[in-house]
Amino acid sequence: MKITSVETFLVPPRWLFCRIGTDEGLVGWGEPIVEGRAATVRAAVGELSELLVGTDPLRIEDHWQVLTKGAFYRGGPILSSAVAGIDQALWDIAGKARDAPVHELLGGPVRERARVYSWVGGDEPAEIEDAVRAQVEAGFTAVKMNGCGRLPTLASPAEVDAVVRRVAAAREVLGPHRDLAVDFHGRVSLANARRILPLLEPLAPMFVEEPLLPDEQHLLPQVLSASTVPIATGERLYSRWDFRPVFEHGIAVAQPDLSHAGGISEVRRIGAMAEVHGVALAPHCPLGPIALAASLQIAFSTPNFLIQEQSLGIHYNTGNELLDYLVDPSIFEFVDGQVRRPRRPGLGIEVDEEAVRRADERGHAWRSPVWRHDDGSFAEW
Ligand SMILES: [Mg+2]
Repeated sequence: MKITSVETFLVPPRWLFCRIGTDEGLVGWGEPIVEGRAATVRAAVGELSELLVGTDPLRIEDHWQVLTKGAFYRGGPILSSAVAGIDQALWDIAGKARDAPVHELLGGPVRERARVYSWVGGDEPAEIEDAVRAQVEAGFTAVKMNGCGRLPTLASPAEVDAVVRRVAAAREVLGPHRDLAVDFHGRVSLANARRILPLLEPLAPMFVEEPLLPDEQHLLPQVLSASTVPIATGERLYSRWDFRPVFEHGIAVAQPDLSHAGGISEVRRIGAMAEVHGVALAPHCPLGPIALAASLQIAFSTPNFLIQEQSLGIHYNTGNELLDYLVDPSIFEFVDGQVRRPRRPGLGIEVDEEAVRRADERGHAWRSPVWRHDDGSFAEW
C-alpha cells in the first residue's frame, strides 16, 4: 500500500482536518490543529506531505521519527501538531487495513467504558450552579470550570475570594460523589497559586490544571508544596521530553493533547512514562471529532487513564458542533458520564467527507482572544 495524497480542510468552528489517501482506496483522517493557528499548521502538514506521498502508510513509527526529527529543527506546537494529525490518520489507515479498532493494535482494551467530563461556563456563582446542575442532569459525574478570568500578579482579597466562591458554588451542586476540575489556564501567578490552592483544599477538586504557564515548569515544586490539591498540566507540552520535568516534579495528572503532542504514537508513550511516575492520564481535547476519536483509542488502551475531556456544547463551538462532520455520531453517546468502547475499525468514526469539503469552502479564522488588564497591559487568557 502507498500513500497517494495528503489533503487538509479548514473546518469551522476552529478545526483543521487531514485526509490521507492510499492506492488501495483506504483513507485515514486526522486532526492536526493548534487552536488559532490552523493555517500555519496547514502549511506545516503541506510541507511534511512531501515525506509521505509514495510511501507505505503502515510504517507509522518510521514516519513519526522522520516527520518529527527529519528537518533538523524539531518540537514546538506547530510541528508537533502537524505530526499529531498525520499520525492519527496513519493509525486510522492501519486499523482499517487490519479491520480492527486502533486500541486493538495497541494491546487490546483495558476497559469497556471511559469516563468523560463536560465543561461548565459562567462567571457568577449562580450561573455556575445552573451550568453544573444541567451537566449533572445530563448524567455527567465530573465537570471542569475555569477558576478565574484575568488576575493581576498579586490578586486582591476580593479576587481571591471570588475564585473560592465560584468553586464552592460548583461543589455545592456536585456534592461529594461527583468530581470537579478547575482550570487556572496559566492565568494565575506563582504567588496567587500558592495563596489560592490551600483555600480550595476543603472543596476537594479532582485536580487544578495549569497553575503555571508551560515555560514556568521550574516553579512547579513551589506550587506543589503549597497544598495537597492534585496538579494537572500538559496541554501545552508536546513530547515525552517536554513532560519529563513535570513528571519528576510530581504532578498528579498529565494532559497531553492527541492533536498537539505527536498523536497516538507519542501520547501512548507519554502515558507509559506517566505510569512510571504514578501519574494519571487525562488527555486534553476541547477540539473536534477526530481528535476525540483518537483520544478514546488511548483511553481504551491505557491502564493509567483517568478521564477524557470532550467538547460537546463547549463555549468555543459556535455555529458548528462536535457531531456535525460524522456519518454516525453514536460513537460519542455519553451514558452516565461514560462512553462505550468503540468497535469500528481505525479511529472508529466515519467522517462525512462531503460535509467536510463543503465546510472547507467556508473555512474559518478563529483566534484566541487577546486580554488586557485594566491598565492596558497584556493579560494571559
Ligand atoms: Mg486547560
